[in-house]
Amino acid sequence: MHTETLCIQAGYTPGNGEPRQIPIYQSTTFKYSTSEDMGKLFDLEAEGYFYSRLANPTCDAVAAKICALEGGTAAMLTGSGQSATFLSLFNIAGCGDHIVVSSAIYGGTYNLISVTMKRMGLEATFVDPDCTEAELNAAFRSNTKALFGETIANPALTVLDIEKFAKAAHAHGVPLIVDNTFATPVNCRPFEWGADIVIHSTTKYMDGHASAIGGVIVDGGKFDWTKYPDKFPGLCTPDDSYHGVTYTERFGIQGAYINKCVAQLMRDFGCVQSPQSAYLLNLGLESLPLRMKQHCSNALTIARFLKGHEKVRWVKYCGLEGDKHYEIARKYLPNGSCGVVSFGLYGGRKAAEVFMKHLKLGSIETHVADSRTCCLHPASSTHRQMTDAELDAAGIGSDLIRLSCGLENVQDLLEDLAQALNHA
Ligand SMILES: *Cc1c(COP(=O)(O)O)cnc(C)c1O
Repeated sequence: MHTETLCIQAGYTPGNGEPRQIPIYQSTTFKYSTSEDMGKLFDLEAEGYFYSRLANPTCDAVAAKICALEGGTAAMLTGSGQSATFLSLFNIAGCGDHIVVSSAIYGGTYNLISVTMKRMGLEATFVDPDCTEAELNAAFRSNTKALFGETIANPALTVLDIEKFAKAAHAHGVPLIVDNTFATPVNCRPFEWGADIVIHSTTKYMDGHASAIGGVIVDGGKFDWTKYPDKFPGLCTPDDSYHGVTYTERFGIQGAYINKCVAQLMRDFGCVQSPQSAYLLNLGLESLPLRMKQHCSNALTIARFLKGHEKVRWVKYCGLEGDKHYEIARKYLPNGSCGVVSFGLYGGRKAAEVFMKHLKLGSIETHVADSRTCCLHPASSTHRQMTDAELDAAGIGSDLIRLSCGLENVQDLLEDLAQALNHA
């Protein structure tokens, strides 16, 4: 089925007389008649619910919808995009291991990997996403466990060459994990280009209304962990903490990764998405294709306007003709990229502040990708812990303004931008 249909229908099919909309199962626990019944669930021998930290029917239905949208084989919701990123990596890489990461990534992800996960003993090498294949291959070590990048980087707006990254990952026997938050499965499905695991901050376009924080991890089900049992012992040898289950044997390569991630990491870290949030997320998913079309069309019109404005020094939007990533965006994002445009003014950091202060419709927010237009100056907010050199490596100049184009009428947005630029 097509994306529009999956957004409406996938994940939940009510029976006769059952609720048409996904019910919110607001219950921590589930009732059983005998201990034996429940024991089978604990041994992962029977399917069913017993405690909402491990599984909840509302969350499972929404995860199944996103799984279908990405074309994956298994998926799980998480409490945030940050926890999705953390769990997706920690599921296969820990103390003494190493990962290779695109340097053009979300600021929170950069901090998670370069500071917090480093403290846990996991080393990372950052690579320019536009590097050559030779440079990319040179970043791998014998203890490398994963390669990580973002389809469209937030806020650098570079486009990942997913095929190039997948080829390098597979040549070194590790999976490619792609954060597909900005593109959404409406505009790109990374599994079709060789990615192995896809994650999202569902907080952004998927929810789309700035109503609920959330994340999701989806397994494409093609990476064969059993070919590298020494690299991935957690998936290929018995788990003493879970009754000696060997995940690849019990669930096959299509289900091992997600089942391990739930049984071990969600059990121990408990970073669940609430059923209420999953319900709101599902409402957003229903209209995702319609909204993405409008976000992209507004962003392209605004990018063209900014490009022609005398006070604007540069504009970065991969959908804009002549952009450095225009050609690669045409390959991976032929129907549109995202609603986020970045640009810099001739007056640099100072002009950015004046411009943003005078916007009337566009508000200043640490957020992107919802129905309301908003903007942010990363160098003084989300990325303020980075040095100028690190900012440059991540593709974020100190003058960069990130503008998230909402769903308002584009003429109104253009007028607002024009009057604010007059002040700058
Ligand atoms: C926002 C964001 C995250 C983090 O998600 P939260 O839901 O805020 O935890 C991760 N990756 C990208 C690309 C993001 O934009």
